[in-house]
Amino acid sequence: MENFICKTCGVEYAESESPPERCPICEDPRQYVGWEGQEWTTMAQLKADGYKNDVRQEEPGLTGIGISPSFTIGQRALLVQTPGGNVLYDCISYLDDEAIAEVKRLGGIQAICFSHPHFYDSMVSWSRAFDDAPIYVPDADREHVMRPDSAIRYWDGQPLELVPGVTLIRCGGHFEGSAVLHWAAGAEGRGALFVGDSMAVVPDRRFVSFMTSYPNLIPLRADEIQAIVAAVEPYEFDRIYGGWWGRNMMSGAKEAVRRSAERYIQHIGG
Ligand SMILES: [Zn+2]
Ligand SMILES: [Zn+2]
Repeated sequence: MENFICKTCGVEYAESESPPERCPICEDPRQYVGWEGQEWTTMAQLKADGYKNDVRQEEPGLTGIGISPSFTIGQRALLVQTPGGNVLYDCISYLDDEAIAEVKRLGGIQAICFSHPHFYDSMVSWSRAFDDAPIYVPDADREHVMRPDSAIRYWDGQPLELVPGVTLIRCGGHFEGSAVLHWAAGAEGRGALFVGDSMAVVPDRRFVSFMTSYPNLIPLRADEIQAIVAAVEPYEFDRIYGGWWGRNMMSGAKEAVRRSAERYIQHIGG
């Protein structure tokens, strides 16, 4: 029995003897099936293929963990370290012994949560490597869980303080359960927001953007964008960490979110 991993979206599946027939995550209009057809790999195959975890400090108390060379969507997870425990926001497909040792040295993982289902990836394998850390999945997105597990706790979408000063906030948009994570002590105490692609830091790093589908370029409606802005409004933050290496907005982020939403809504004629 194997836990097969989709080679296009990177999501790990429940144990099976042979690869699943289809990947519902990729068949969803927000993603796409690979051009060579549905293909699968496994954690052991990724290791044999030479993949490694890439662990880097983003700022004191915040560590990024990616995969090198880039695999599937190419995102990196974020591990926020606090005196009350560590939280992993977003996940990746691969986890090697070196990364496990480094994360343990940083204090392990007390909770795992996500921006959205494209980044659930190998969440159960990660949880098992860190004492069955609880995995928070919004109730609204439970149909997108491809490897059910007893570590998964379905969450009603109300703001949830996972450890003191680290709060999971549902904002919707890209997925109904899309969420951001607020770290009050981040950015030297000015507050930081982790967003994945609940809002995407664009290459100029002065704006964010919003999409129903990023690969297929399906925009969001004005009311959905306004709901995202409203969800983060009660929180103080000066910095945004996006879902990919370097896609960060180092200061002025709260005002940039408002400005970005206005610009976008103007362009879609709202
Ligand atoms: Zn897939
Ligand atoms: Zn996505």
